[in-house]
Amino acid sequence: MLLRRADSYGIWTNVDGDSGKREVDYLHCAHCDLSFEVIPGSGHKRSFCTLCARATCGALACQPCVPYMKKLEAEEKAINAAIQRQAFLDAIAIEQGNWSQPPAPKG
Ligand SMILES: [Zn+2]
Ligand SMILES: [Zn+2]
Repeated sequence: MLLRRADSYGIWTNVDGDSGKREVDYLHCAHCDLSFEVIPGSGHKRSFCTLCARATCGALACQPCVPYMKKLEAEEKAINAAIQRQAFLDAIAIEQGNWSQPPAPKG
């Protein structure tokens, strides 16, 4: 019996037969999006973020509240800034290349 609604659900079966069929509920960490199996009484130390109102995986890196989507957005901004910076540097290099070349000799 689960106390909360699972984020996802799976059925694992043995390829040798149906004797190993196992139904599994998963939660997804609100801060790193790790999927982890819900095993009541397993002793795994998970956590719950009251700001996100969702479970977390319990990893030390996931203790501060930084929602996963915020991390993705920050990475996307960093990538876009790097692309724009590189495009700017490429444009400058092209301009410098044009300026540094002496005019072609005539005659
Ligand atoms: Zn996590
Ligand atoms: Zn959080």
